[in-house]
Amino acid sequence: MFTVEELVQYAKNTGYIYQGSEIYGGLANTWDYGPLGSLLKLNIKKAWRQKFIQERIDNVLLDGPILLNNKVWEASGHVAGFSDPLIECKKCNQRFRVDKLIHDFDGTDSDGWSLEKLEKYVNDHKIKCPSCGAFEWNEIRAFHLMFQTYQGAVLDKANQVYLRPENAQNVFVSYKNVLRSSRKKIPFGIAHIGKAFRNEITPGNFIFRTREFEQMELEFFVKPGTEIEWFKYWKQFAMDWLVSLGLSKDNLRFDDHKPEALSHYSNATTDIQYRYPWGFDELWGIASRTDFDLTQHQNHSGEIMEYLDPETNEKYIPYCVEPSVGVERLVFAFLAEGLSIETLADGTTRDVLRIHPALAPYKVAVLPLSRRDLSSKAEEVYHLLSKHFDAVYDETQNIGRRYRRQDQIGTPYAVTIDYDTLEDNMVTVRERDTMAQVRLPISEVVDYISERIKF
Ligand code: ATP
Repeated sequence: MFTVEELVQYAKNTGYIYQGSEIYGGLANTWDYGPLGSLLKLNIKKAWRQKFIQERIDNVLLDGPILLNNKVWEASGHVAGFSDPLIECKKCNQRFRVDKLIHDFDGTDSDGWSLEKLEKYVNDHKIKCPSCGAFEWNEIRAFHLMFQTYQGAVLDKANQVYLRPENAQNVFVSYKNVLRSSRKKIPFGIAHIGKAFRNEITPGNFIFRTREFEQMELEFFVKPGTEIEWFKYWKQFAMDWLVSLGLSKDNLRFDDHKPEALSHYSNATTDIQYRYPWGFDELWGIASRTDFDLTQHQNHSGEIMEYLDPETNEKYIPYCVEPSVGVERLVFAFLAEGLSIETLADGTTRDVLRIHPALAPYKVAVLPLSRRDLSSKAEEVYHLLSKHFDAVYDETQNIGRRYRRQDQIGTPYAVTIDYDTLEDNMVTVRERDTMAQVRLPISEVVDYISERIKF
């Protein structure tokens, strides 16, 4: 397992991820996804869309705005309650999330505790500042996590809006429109992919916790009374998706929330945790959200959110099960899981990213053995393949070095053009993991690769 620092270095050197605003000294906890990282993110979203929407009869996609009417956030409870408990050390002025401080101290899960209960726990257990060791805390206070900005020319209260802190509310406010226009019947789901913003107290651990991130959320609407069954279904579905894309079962686990730690709107919640370099931590939150959100929006907007069952004529506000995952936390997991340093038979080593071919930024590298004589044939092959896959062209340095470069960034196939190619129109196709090579007619390469990168 690599350390966070080693992964940061790898991501920077290869072109996966760089520090944001780097030439100005950076902006803390912002990251640029480079030529490889941006493709990896797209491929993760594509793989999610395929399994959660495309291959499903019951789910549809929605793409809503980041800025929503403030009443949405009043109804959802975010204006009043979307905060984390913040504690500040009097001596060194470092700030911490109290729930994380307590968890790091003795593993206690304090989700759902009042500020008073948290304060008592910190005092009773004499929990010290992890930064300077002092036991001199300021009073715990609720720190609001929503970003605010202004819409329009006047920067006053009337024009103040929030950047959405989650995608789910986009779905709830458009629920009726989607239901009407798609003519879906319960059970069905509305999926949403998009940025979310939270003014986190302690961002960090590379891309694990940032203030701007991207979520893939499914709000799955069900008949009341069936939600726990569906909750279990989506838990397993999400886990299976992760394993099918190459995360090992040993590095994944469910963390079921205890009844006293559930959010007020939830009757069952679990996190799928991944074994990050610092230990198991949340990758994917799966919550049974009852009818809380739709009921709140019905009460605040006056719009009836009830569903009329066409078969039984029953009327009810649907219950909702939500699997919600962050794209960046998946990027982290797939890079951490895939990267390895291997010793080869001849004693040399290679860095190889054994990432699932469906996620690999480039599916194929096109490599002419000689720049002088073979580049025009190789460009022809590149243009043929790039109509089907993201491909990369590389003609610098010896072929061994070029294979290593592709192994390092996870390209599953490399196609080499040599002098014989000019005569017989055949190329050598090398596979990343086994390093096995086959010789194929150029006309067969697209099918050969397509067959092997399927997800
Ligand atoms: P945490 O307990 O880590 O703060 P959360 O329980 O508040 O997370 P959710 O509100 O359940 O997170 O969000 C759903 C998913 O969105 C998370 O499982 C995670 O993958 C992602 N996510 C949430 N906050 C962040 C963040 N600050 N940076 C990156 N991804 C995030």
